[in-house]
Amino acid sequence: MTPIEIYKELPKTNCGQCAEMTCMALAILISKGSKTLNACPYLQKDTIERLSGSIKTVDVTKTILENLRLETEKINLEYAATAIGAQIVDNGIKIHCMGADYTIEKNGTIKTNVQVNVWINILLLIYIKMGSAIKDSSLSNVPVRWVSFDELKSGSMKSNSYRKESEIPLTAMFENDYTHTVSALTLLGAKPYADQPSDNAWIVYLMPKIPVLILYWRGDGEFPTDVKILFPHDTDSFMDVESVIFLMRETVIALKEL
Ligand code: SF4
Repeated sequence: MTPIEIYKELPKTNCGQCAEMTCMALAILISKGSKTLNACPYLQKDTIERLSGSIKTVDVTKTILENLRLETEKINLEYAATAIGAQIVDNGIKIHCMGADYTIEKNGTIKTNVQVNVWINILLLIYIKMGSAIKDSSLSNVPVRWVSFDELKSGSMKSNSYRKESEIPLTAMFENDYTHTVSALTLLGAKPYADQPSDNAWIVYLMPKIPVLILYWRGDGEFPTDVKILFPHDTDSFMDVESVIFLMRETVIALKEL
């Protein structure tokens, strides 16, 4: 089972009783074999029994990646390129993601000049898989209408996890060191975005068809610093919300490392 599949089975209340901040954090540890399903006191015995046999902890990310690679091999990448905002290159397509270029070859292999991040590779292949299946080819060409995470399909049910993995740590980063956070955003390809109701705003392309709009309100004596992240309304056509949470989680990790 993938961490996303394990996460779907957890209560998603982020209560912290398993000693992890979020249910997603526990799901990742279970998938790596560092923790077991028993760590969550809210999982029913029959659920644990049902899932236990499905969890293989050996190289789980490699297995997920290999399965996605096999699925990508069946996709006509040249045909899908327009819908997913990719550039056709020799032997595949090129995708610009989080400030770096990734070449996805026809056999689903990913090549990049930056340090390999297996989660980014997984998210890229999920993006290609879902984006290539879009029936309405005009969908990705309509003007962007920005929506909150909660407005994405099933977003409101995962809102807690989403905030803990993205807006809350990003707000803390701005509060700790505004200048450094802006520099890190810039290195990730973020550009200032004018005419927003916030004090500052940036747009950053996490995937070619998934730019996010980061709105920042400076704290003062009366109100705390606040950050809201908006998504294009059709984001859920390119990625399910669990993957969007993983994408935001990887984005925050990348910003902290820059
Ligand atoms: S996985 Fe952890 S955080 Fe989520 S409900 Fe179970 S104990 Fe609480």
